[in-house]
Amino acid sequence: MTRIGFIGLGNMGLPMARNLAKAGFAVVGHDVVAAARARAAEAGLPVVEELDRAVADAEMVITMLPAGPQVREVYLADGGVLDNAEQGALLIDCSTIDVETARAVHEAARGQGLAMLDAPVSGGVAGAEAASLTFMVGGEAEAFARARPVLERMGKAVVHAGPAGTGQAAKICNNMMLGIQMISVCEAFVLAEKLGLSADKLFEISSRASGQCWSLTSYCPVPGPVPASPANRDYRPGFTAAMMLKDLRLAQQTASAVGAATPLGAEACQLYALFAAAGKEGLDFSAIIKMIAGRL
Ligand code: NAD
Repeated sequence: MTRIGFIGLGNMGLPMARNLAKAGFAVVGHDVVAAARARAAEAGLPVVEELDRAVADAEMVITMLPAGPQVREVYLADGGVLDNAEQGALLIDCSTIDVETARAVHEAARGQGLAMLDAPVSGGVAGAEAASLTFMVGGEAEAFARARPVLERMGKAVVHAGPAGTGQAAKICNNMMLGIQMISVCEAFVLAEKLGLSADKLFEISSRASGQCWSLTSYCPVPGPVPASPANRDYRPGFTAAMMLKDLRLAQQTASAVGAATPLGAEACQLYALFAAAGKEGLDFSAIIKMIAGRL
């Protein structure tokens, strides 16, 4: 039975770790926050207070942490993952972080003879719970082949994106598309209302016309057309505006580092920054329609 240390038992990490435990892996969880450990223990997951106890003897270590600084700390700090991992252990970071940090941690792991993958996900908390996430994986092919059967117990699609950092690159590009598309869908619904076209009719037409996209058909920002979308529950997340802003900022940092022009990505980033500055960062990212409609 593969022994897995799972670090970061938050909104995403806990259901992912539980799916691995359900699939028969020997999972030991760790989180720095006592309340997160308590929630995990209540959910039946074995948890430890100390990181080194989750990592020691583990054949795989999976991390699901908020952002780059926590990933650096968990892997690189004294007493962190690299200090405690067994030779031969495979390290998989599923957090969404900047490409630079991902490559730096890969490099440090390689320096200690440890294989590592960056494997961010798409699909949100619902996907984590239903084991239907999409994994975008960067790293060596051999490490990917070892990770695949484990990742498949948490996701429906597991794609090898290329060498170290390309999983994060895919995630950042995908979420930049998503942020831009959501704003475009919001603008269209606000314009339609002013033109006397009902939201239901715009949905009926555009979901079968060339404006069709995921933000419209799976996550519609107005209540009604897609019953499961956060618009039907006062924009409770889902995927928060704060997370979208984080990902758009990562895209802007990366774009400027490599000299790529992303004018609509920059605009989307600024709009989400305004929305967050208005105190709305805890709402679902589709709630930006309120700001676009002038109804904050
Ligand atoms: P979260 O804040 O709910 O969970 C992160 C967990 O990491 C927390 O429980 C926190 O206590 C723990 N943590 C922080 N620092 C730690 C440390 N030093 N040691 C151990 N544990 C530590 O966040 P989340 O929603 O689970 O998201 C995790 C990652 O997944 C983020 O990078 C996010 O961008 C990405 N993501 C989230 C979603 C989503 O819909 N929530 C979707 C796709 C990707």
